[in-house]
Amino acid sequence: MLRQGILRCQRAFAPSLQVSKTTVNRNGTAYVRTCYAVQTRRASAAAPTADTLKKPDMFCYQCEQTKSRRGCVTVGVCGKSPQVAALQDLLMYVIKGLAVHANRAINMGVYSNEECDDFVKKAMFSTLTNVNFDQDRFPEYIRQAVEYREEFRVPLLAAYAKSGKPVCEALTQGPAVWKSEKGYEDLDYLASEGHKVGVLEDQQIYGPDINGVRYMTLYGIKGLSAYACHADALGESDPWVSKFIYRALDFLESASQADKFDLGLNLKLALDVGATNMRVMELLDKGHRRLLGVPTPTNVLSTPKAGKCILISGHDLVDLHTLLKATESTDINVYTHGEMMPAHMYPKLNAFKSLAGHFGGAWQNQKIDFATFPGPVLASTNCVIEPLRSYRDRLYTLNETGINGVKHLDLHDPVQLQQLLEHAQSLPGFDAKTANKYEDRNLVVGFGREVILQHADTVINAVKTGDLQRICVIGGCDGSEHKRNYFTNLAQSLPAQTLILTMGCAKYRLNTINFGTLGNTGIPRLLDMGQCNDSYGAIMVAKALADVLETDINSLPLSISLSWFEQKAVAVLLSLLSLGVKNIKLGPIMPAFLTPGVRQALEETYGIVPIDIRHPMEDMNDMLHN
Ligand code: SF4
Ligand code: SF4
Repeated sequence: MLRQGILRCQRAFAPSLQVSKTTVNRNGTAYVRTCYAVQTRRASAAAPTADTLKKPDMFCYQCEQTKSRRGCVTVGVCGKSPQVAALQDLLMYVIKGLAVHANRAINMGVYSNEECDDFVKKAMFSTLTNVNFDQDRFPEYIRQAVEYREEFRVPLLAAYAKSGKPVCEALTQGPAVWKSEKGYEDLDYLASEGHKVGVLEDQQIYGPDINGVRYMTLYGIKGLSAYACHADALGESDPWVSKFIYRALDFLESASQADKFDLGLNLKLALDVGATNMRVMELLDKGHRRLLGVPTPTNVLSTPKAGKCILISGHDLVDLHTLLKATESTDINVYTHGEMMPAHMYPKLNAFKSLAGHFGGAWQNQKIDFATFPGPVLASTNCVIEPLRSYRDRLYTLNETGINGVKHLDLHDPVQLQQLLEHAQSLPGFDAKTANKYEDRNLVVGFGREVILQHADTVINAVKTGDLQRICVIGGCDGSEHKRNYFTNLAQSLPAQTLILTMGCAKYRLNTINFGTLGNTGIPRLLDMGQCNDSYGAIMVAKALADVLETDINSLPLSISLSWFEQKAVAVLLSLLSLGVKNIKLGPIMPAFLTPGVRQALEETYGIVPIDIRHPMEDMNDMLHN
């Protein structure tokens, strides 16, 4: 099925292929470039090229909020500075050089290094949207990448020498040999190096279409690396995942020119990223259940309690677990924020008396929520934004998150942990009067795959009797744009004979609405499955239902409307495509890195269509009847 899909996608591209000119790559090697420029009128407007633009201060188009739907060129809409953008570009560049070595060394059986595997995932994670804005953290990532690369290089070159084979060209050029000429403290120098190796330089080589697919792959690898970091924290890792990351990055950097320009191979690699991400989400799912128990439907208290308090946001439930253990015998209450809310569905987290409830909404509300929270705030992972002065000195970043001038905390360091608790004790906390101002919002979480599948017979019976017309997945990320109201309007327009599965921050568009129950089944129509990575559970539910009904996922009465924002969502999208899931509606806007020609090809092959922001009713009709 996968291969047929790729072939169809290639055919969709075929009429527009152009063979073009001899060019010179950034390593100084001349080669014949086959340019897959798509002949649509809008294609050239999709993304600027280095040919047509004066070089901007930066260029980044990795997330949905990117400037003017094209790319951030002066400063990130997220707040990323040109300097941080360039440092992240350089980090990606040297990691590709590291991967060129690691892939070969591992395949030849001459060297491997688990610490390096962990480092690469963390370094990739640090470059996700709304993760790390701290320019002072990136030189160390870059230095370490070069150091690990050299660790691989010595035994690798020795193995080549021993075998009598010539050293392959990829090891002699570009990121395989890049070294800082000025150490790792000169930020301007490092940024100037990064400025030479970003998206636009690649676009000059590959053209916007192929480059967009290559960057989709890279962003998918970033997303799966982030999920893998969460799984690693739970003690669940699979060396195969790191091997895949090296192989994929090695392909992007050092495949033959013919292969690099081969759309089919590039799409295949993107789908392999999706398949690997499925494995990572499986590890996460397993780790969460092993450490924290099986999710159970749970009412989440959203009225604070009087007393000292700490707020924690992001996705890392191990950090929350550590914090709850540390506060267990204190009078400090811990509250979840954003993507931490699903923590309440895990029995072993809920058992801590210090887990007091949930405070605030999705990540984009943090400037309001964090400013009004009367205690320290921890950003365990994305999505974090440049803080207001009013809470800057109460904010702590953890793990790969970073903001220049904001304290970075190691929760595993008992001294730092104690300082955090003392900080909480020194702040006012909630008094009874303030706490009473917050109304309870009737938040319910915990409809994990196990709970839904317990009711599989009821669900299938409802499908057969017509009481259940459609299962609609409306989930993913959230953001501040008004157009994301589309997802609320879409859900509200769905008839009573529908179930809505949600996960990720997108839940905040839906979870205060009373959707009632499905007929007389007693099953709530809105089922919150958890974090964005719990889309794995939704896939497992779909697979199980398809098995019982002896059909495939695409033949189920199932529709997916995916709210994307950043690179984890790219990884999830690629996972769905790798499983052959079709007819996904994607929005609120399509990724800027995919040119109109590529989008058209994906639509023809996989049925991916943009949501119709202004006409949710039409999309609703389409979801119900197609
Ligand atoms: S991460 Fe998104 S908002 Fe930030 S610079 Fe990149 S494209 Fe722009
Ligand atoms: S679900 Fe998406 S938008 Fe929400 S915190 Fe996670 S990564 Fe950010």
